Amino acid sequence: MSARTVEIRTCGACRQRPAWIPRELCAPCCLLLRSDLRDVVEDYRWLGDCMANLAPSWRTSSIRAHRTEAPIPFDPILSAQREDIARVLASWAANVVEKARPRRWPPHDVLPEVTAPWLSCQLGWILRHESAGDMADEIRTLRIDTERAAPRELDWLNLPLPCPRCGRLALSERAGTVRCLRGGCGHAMTLSGYRDLENAIAAELAAKTKTAASRADNDRATAA
Ligand SMILES: [Zn+2]
Ligand SMILES: [Zn+2]
Repeated sequence: MSARTVEIRTCGACRQRPAWIPRELCAPCCLLLRSDLRDVVEDYRWLGDCMANLAPSWRTSSIRAHRTEAPIPFDPILSAQREDIARVLASWAANVVEKARPRRWPPHDVLPEVTAPWLSCQLGWILRHESAGDMADEIRTLRIDTERAAPRELDWLNLPLPCPRCGRLALSERAGTVRCLRGGCGHAMTLSGYRDLENAIAAELAAKTKTAASRADNDRATAA
């Protein structure tokens, strides 16, 4: 009698937890992929809304067909991010159509509103396929990049200090997490890490002021 051994695979997405056999991903990553496929459609719409209604700081350029027309605000970063969402989803849909057996009817359009729900319906097959981890990674990246390009302003509170990594004034806080968003490098830290940064800068500036003050005192003493 041969003992059947069940091979323990590692999740293809987080590469830490064991996969949820027979799927290629662990349970939390399966759930995250499912919700990302739903939320990435919201991201696509959100980027469109942002482009239609750009804040002054984002208004990098505008396009118009005729001189008399009111310019349509245009932001190349937001536009490229929207195109990325559509392209990545459509290419994964094409991948499933090509590989899945029995063959699937392809989605009837390449728009994310169509391809994302179509991919959600194919999750049963996708999660058992070796490329599930790559797909989860790519869709997660789309979500993170959208948040960076066009953060939901109401949720994020802008912070005054520059990012310790890239130096941009792009730090925002939400629920105890600080991230470098809006064209920043994506650096993340805890709110207490940010407070330490504040204290360090405050101490440094206080020391400088003290030195300047004592120098002024010395000058005054010399002059007298
Ligand atoms: Zn995982
Ligand atoms: Zn940064």
